[in-house]
Amino acid sequence: MSKHIDLSPESLLLFVPDVYQKSILDIDYTSLKEKGIEVISFDIDDTIGALEKNYLRYFVGAFGLKKSKAKFEELRQMGFKIVLITNSNKKIAKMYHKKLHTDWMIYEARKPDPLCFEETLKRYKITPDKMAHVGNSIVNDIYGGNRAGITTCLVRRKGKWGKVYESQEHDVGKILEKNDLWRKHHIDSDGDQYYQMGEKQKGICKSS
Ligand SMILES: [Mg+2]
Repeated sequence: MSKHIDLSPESLLLFVPDVYQKSILDIDYTSLKEKGIEVISFDIDDTIGALEKNYLRYFVGAFGLKKSKAKFEELRQMGFKIVLITNSNKKIAKMYHKKLHTDWMIYEARKPDPLCFEETLKRYKITPDKMAHVGNSIVNDIYGGNRAGITTCLVRRKGKWGKVYESQEHDVGKILEKNDLWRKHHIDSDGDQYYQMGEKQKGICKSS
């Protein structure tokens, strides 16, 4: 599962998201709008739906997802185009695409390869400053998105199973922490390190 990633000091900032929130429901999309974002892409597994529930959905169909559906409707009304970008297969992507009425989808995207983000920019004829990506993986979603030059939003992993695949994520997180680029969740007793667009991480000296 280990992916080829560049962990040289000058590349570390590519692993730092512009936004970090608990879930897709907590992101301040108004600030994205104000920044000029027009297209938002979302990862599926462990971002919209927990990986273990997606296994089940693969066999029984798209159940639940009420809050995500309402949020996407709200985003559409705000004028955003919504795209799904997943490393998962066509069946999962299509199911979410239909259920959540998204505008477009890319499956088997091979994130962190930035190609899927560049394809999206091309499709909507926009420059990278007009697109944001939301996902739970600091490697696939954040490193991938930042290399395409788009705005990146990290959310916490939704399910429990996904942790099994996260040893690389964990190692990257440790390196970022050591370099004062990242803080563990709830490291401060008086709160957490969630931040919105334009805000800085608490206690971090360097900044992207
Ligand atoms: Mg994911």
